[in-house]
Amino acid sequence: MSGAKCTRLSGTLIKQLLDSVDSILFDCDGVIWRGDQAIPGAPEVVNLLKKNGKNVFFVTNNSSKTRRLYADKMSLLGFNVSEDDVFGTAYCSAMYLKTVCKLQGKVYLVGSNAMKQELEAVGIQQTGVGPDPVTGKHGDWANVPLDPEVKAVVVGFDEHFSYMKLNRAMQYLSQGCLFVGTNRDSRLPLEGGKAVPGTGCILQAVETAAQRQAQTVGKPNQFMFDCVASQHGVERGRCLMVGDRLDTDILLGSNCGLKTVLTLTGVSTVAEAQEHLKSGCPERQGMVPDYYVESIADLLPALRE
Ligand code: PLP
Ligand code: CA
Repeated sequence: MSGAKCTRLSGTLIKQLLDSVDSILFDCDGVIWRGDQAIPGAPEVVNLLKKNGKNVFFVTNNSSKTRRLYADKMSLLGFNVSEDDVFGTAYCSAMYLKTVCKLQGKVYLVGSNAMKQELEAVGIQQTGVGPDPVTGKHGDWANVPLDPEVKAVVVGFDEHFSYMKLNRAMQYLSQGCLFVGTNRDSRLPLEGGKAVPGTGCILQAVETAAQRQAQTVGKPNQFMFDCVASQHGVERGRCLMVGDRLDTDILLGSNCGLKTVLTLTGVSTVAEAQEHLKSGCPERQGMVPDYYVESIADLLPALRE
């Protein structure tokens, strides 16, 4: 197989690559769907890969849904998947707190209802989900009532994020609580070149206030892969990561020793990948994919054979 990096995946190379792997990890937004719509051909790609005996898993930095909700969304879009094959950062953060941090105590959650549910599913109680109305004056806020059972602050996507929450998180972190973030995606791209602020903005606000750095769980952190590998026995050398972002998906794949494919239906471009490659800068080489495709639908001819 070609030793060059950032090669266009086409023709016989597709079958060679697929034959060389048993498991395929797909990022979600920008790869198998965009917002609420499947990428054309993506459900057929996933279903045929499974029919051909491949293990297919989904890894998303989006913390706003439970595994169950992702599986429901995927079924509606025509993907034949089980809840056990989906790894979102709401679920993975709960697993991280339970298995790595071995947290004894509650979480102060800056996050979604989905995160609350995934925490509760592993036996971790939380406080903080939902709006935090303004009370008192700024002179009182350093003495805001805190729950003494809270031992960790967890930050994910929170549409109710506010100054009150920022303050409460800061007060808990000043007391030495653990500090975990779901992911650092700074912007969430929308159709027509538009975007909205991502979880990275919320996390950075809390980090700035607390003067501490969070440990993040999502891509490119290897914990996402460890979570999949420990539950499904994935062999790194025979695993492929497919993503649309160089700094999260492709870097995760490189960090874990997986083969990588960049798909151009999302955020990153081939020009950006080539810039990393040409820079010769060792730290940037992890963001160069082995291959790229216009869309994962490019895999269809090889799968239909
Ligand atoms: N975080 C949030 C809140 C999102 O809405 C999205 C995409 O919709 C993401 C992260 C990125 O998700 P993915 O890792 O599937 O590209
Ligand atoms: Ca993505």
